[in-house]
Amino acid sequence: METSVKPPSRPDAPGGIPGENTLKSSAKTAAQDAALGALDLMIRHEIPPTPENYAVWFAYATGEAGTLRRTLDVLLTSGHGVDELQIAELFERYILPGFRDRAVDDVAVDLGNVTDGLSRSLDRAGAGANSLGHALSTATTALASTEDWEEIRTLVDTLRLETEAARYSNEALRAELANTTGEIAALRRKLEETRTEAMTDGLTGIANRKRFDTLLREAASHAMETGTPLTLLLLDIDHFKQFNDTHGHVVGDQVLRLVGRLLTECLRDTDAPARFGGEEFAVILPETGLEDARGIAERIRKRLNQKRVTRRSSGEDIGVVTISIGVACYDYGESMTKLIARADEALYRAKQNGRNRVMLQGE
Ligand code: GH3
Ligand code: MG
Ligand code: MG
Repeated sequence: METSVKPPSRPDAPGGIPGENTLKSSAKTAAQDAALGALDLMIRHEIPPTPENYAVWFAYATGEAGTLRRTLDVLLTSGHGVDELQIAELFERYILPGFRDRAVDDVAVDLGNVTDGLSRSLDRAGAGANSLGHALSTATTALASTEDWEEIRTLVDTLRLETEAARYSNEALRAELANTTGEIAALRRKLEETRTEAMTDGLTGIANRKRFDTLLREAASHAMETGTPLTLLLLDIDHFKQFNDTHGHVVGDQVLRLVGRLLTECLRDTDAPARFGGEEFAVILPETGLEDARGIAERIRKRLNQKRVTRRSSGEDIGVVTISIGVACYDYGESMTKLIARADEALYRAKQNGRNRVMLQGE
């Protein structure tokens, strides 16, 4: 690990060359203090000065990111020390969401176009109303001082034309508004769909690995913030390679969907099932201790034992599929990788001990 760090060299970065940025002097001093504080903390905890690490410690040093600060404080006092991986996790959780997805950007551009169109219509309607207002006040003044029928007729004609124009632009505006409301609703649906798709496993419809990583980090923060236990189940279908070889991938995929469905059905809303990869699944159980988690894992295992798999095309009864499950409990302050590794070790022992069983960490 490096023990000395250089300040960032970008002139517009906090702590850069004095006078080169446009920050007000008090804000500049605060930013410089935070920058120096961040560097000091990184040196003390032997964290390499990468841009990601710096961003996290800078946010910590400014004191503005309350949740990040609380989480880092828990980590600093947990006795495990703080490692690079944890800082990377904090970066993903607290800093990265500030940078928007490209898909979201696309929708934002569409939305921008819609609102641009709308504001142009509003301008046109506004101009129409202004023009009518002007015509009305001219007419009022003129009517007060004339008795000339010709002049009055011209004024009335002008007013009629202006009123028509204003009505036309108001009708156009109403149509534009109705249209825009529809477009905005469609864009919102598209945005939601894009978001959901990016986080969902295409085959089983449950959370994908990316979503799982986020959910697990959130669950760990929740556990530390509330002082509640958090357990993780790792599930792996038994002899699935052989199953695929015997019955084909289509039936194999059918089994993966069955497991996904079963997990969704037999868990609480706050529990989070996910496809971890291939034929492995994971379940995050917030506010759940090891023994309760064992009960839940057993329930999942038995439910799957009760399901018979049939080949859709022919109705042929293929039999049952079994699953092995490893259970681990989150140790406050440890990295997600360590927690997952402990559940994986328990899963490995469940396989070694004959499969179709649940094993807890340390058993
Ligand atoms: P074990 O009991 O030790 O877990 O044995 P296993 O055969 O299940 O484990 P292994 O890791 O050797 O094989 C996993 C198999 O899972 C390999 C692959 O054919 C299958 N698999 C992974 N992803 C998919 C998928 O998306 N669809 C299908 N049908 N099969 C998959
Ligand atoms: Mg496997
Ligand atoms: Mg397997």
